Amino acid sequence: MIAADKYQPSRSFYAKINRRMTQMRQAAPTRIDLDRPILTITFDDCPQSAFHKGAGVLDKYGVKGGFYIATGLLGRASCMGPMASAAQVRELVNRGHEVGAHSHAHFDYACAEREQIEADIQTNVERLREICQLERIESFAFPYGETSYQAKKSLSNRFTTMRGLLPGINRGTVDRAQLRSFELDGLPDSVANVLSALDDLHRAPGWMIIFSHDVSEKPSQFGTTPQALEEIIQKAQSLDIDILPPALAARKAGLVTHA
Ligand SMILES: [Zn+2]
Repeated sequence: MIAADKYQPSRSFYAKINRRMTQMRQAAPTRIDLDRPILTITFDDCPQSAFHKGAGVLDKYGVKGGFYIATGLLGRASCMGPMASAAQVRELVNRGHEVGAHSHAHFDYACAEREQIEADIQTNVERLREICQLERIESFAFPYGETSYQAKKSLSNRFTTMRGLLPGINRGTVDRAQLRSFELDGLPDSVANVLSALDDLHRAPGWMIIFSHDVSEKPSQFGTTPQALEEIIQKAQSLDIDILPPALAARKAGLVTHA
């Protein structure tokens, strides 16, 4: 359930097997051995509600998040409401949040040619650097969470971390080019899954990443509510879990680009 538009990656049995095979075939294997647990809260595409309410909740608790931006979607309409503007993306950086890459045209990288991906990511990174006045964009999330071994391999030197969407806590041997993450969406057990994963993270430290899209009282099927976000942050803070944006979390976890 990852969409900025009407496109849906294949849900066929073959596609599901393929997705797991891709996750298992590590393009940039590295180890994460943390003494303290880390939670990273991220938003993909950045609908305006994620800027207003999502970032608003994070600011209220004094924590910083990550916003993965598909530059070609900025200012456009979507099934998750209107997307943030370039000025709002810049403001997120000014408020201490991290902005990550998420493709320019938001297409499925698992089905694209290498040259097409390279050109698209180049545009995405150049525009983000210009918008945010940053030297480097360190973090990336695959559009729709979809990828292939070739896409992971060819992008892994550009970014310190790349986020996929298969759930799990990142610890032990992980693929820096396809980190695991929990989706916070409209499914009934989504919040409960994240809350119970926090208990697991507390028991066995690692790096846990969650992602959502729009944030409102009545979110789309891809989004969440401000209350759910608050509940997650309150629980993480009560368990003494550090909440850090992606690049900072990656540094604490000892991840580097040329691992
Ligand atoms: Zn997206």
